[in-house]
Amino acid sequence: MQVYDGPACLAGERPFASPDWDRTLIPRSCLAATIVRMRVLVVEDEVKMAALIRRGLEENGQAADVAGTGEEALVRAGSTEYDAIILDVMLPQIDGFEVCRRLRQNSVWAPVLMLTARDAVEDRIAGLDTGADDYLTKPFSFAELLARLRALVRRGPLEREAVLSVGSLRLDPATHQVWRGESEVQLSAKEFSLLETFMRQPGRVFSRFELLEHAWDYSYENRSNIIEVYVRYLREKVDRPFGVRSIQTVRGSGYRLRDDI
Ligand code: CA
Repeated sequence: MQVYDGPACLAGERPFASPDWDRTLIPRSCLAATIVRMRVLVVEDEVKMAALIRRGLEENGQAADVAGTGEEALVRAGSTEYDAIILDVMLPQIDGFEVCRRLRQNSVWAPVLMLTARDAVEDRIAGLDTGADDYLTKPFSFAELLARLRALVRRGPLEREAVLSVGSLRLDPATHQVWRGESEVQLSAKEFSLLETFMRQPGRVFSRFELLEHAWDYSYENRSNIIEVYVRYLREKVDRPFGVRSIQTVRGSGYRLRDDI
C-alpha cells in the first residue's frame, strides 16, 4: 500500500478515494501525478517483448517486474501486491487464460490487461470470462498500453462477485467453477448457467419457462424439452455421484434447488 504525501484538496474540490493509496483522499487535480507510481507485473515469455514493455514502463516512472512463465507469475503475484498485471495470452505450459483464472481463484484482484497476437472475438470473450479487465491486441502502441493501464489502475481492484453457496454446493461466477463439498464438478456452459439460476434463488420454484428465460440467451420453443434434458444432466453431475437429491421436480410447477443439502 502506498502513502500519498502530495498537496491537499483545494476548497470545494471533490477528492478521489484511491484504492491504491490506502483510501487516501487525493485531490483530482493531483491524480495524474500520483498514478505514475504504480508497480506492474509483466507476464511475457518473449524476452525482447518483455524487456521492451518493462523499459517503457520504467521510463514512464513505474516499477515493473517480469515473469517469463505462468507459474512464476502466480508465485510473484501471490507475494507482491501489484497495481496491475500485464498478461500475455501465449505462454508456455499454462496459458494466459489459465493464469488469470488461477489468479482470481487465489484472490488476486489486481486489474489484468491481457495481451494477445490474435484478434479473435472468442479470445476476447475467453479472457474477460476468466476475469481479465481489459484486452489489447499485438502489435499495440505503447501509448495505448499506458493509457489502458492508467485507466485500470485508477479504477482499482474491483469488488468481485462472491462465490455462491447453497448447502454443500459452491459456484464461482468469476472463474466458472463449481464444487460439491471439496470435489470440483465440470459443467458445460449451459449446465453452469442453469445451476447459477437455481443458486441465485435457492428454494424458489422455477417454471420451465422462467429457467429458459434465465439460463438461455435465445428463446426456445416452449414445447421443447430442453429444460428436462439439462436438469437431468445437472442431476447426473451435482447430485447422483454424491448420493443427494438437491434438484427437485415440483409437479405441475417446475424445479427448485433445495438449500439444505
Ligand atoms: Ca508470449
